[in-house]
Amino acid sequence: MTKDFLKKMCCPFDKKELNIQVIKEHGEEIIEGILTCSHCNRYFPIIYSIPIMTPDEYRDKALELPMLQKWGLAISEDQQSFALSTSPETLQIDKS
Ligand SMILES: [Zn+2]
Repeated sequence: MTKDFLKKMCCPFDKKELNIQVIKEHGEEIIEGILTCSHCNRYFPIIYSIPIMTPDEYRDKALELPMLQKWGLAISEDQQSFALSTSPETLQIDKS
């Protein structure tokens, strides 16, 4: 996904603007990152350049967790919601 394309995207649930935190990029292409919506607090990971923006019921948390943990994000495993427990602005990502 390119940064240009990102500007056209919004949260699929409430159509609000998304914030991006790029973790790994290659030129204009975002390879890894996390999109967050400051309105509903949902997060959408970008993995292998593909943003995971499917509805909650079609997302499998078990598939996303290893990546989120690698990024140092503490996201509740048992909770079925895909919302962040902290505000997107304070997200601390381990980019190493
Ligand atoms: Zn939202």
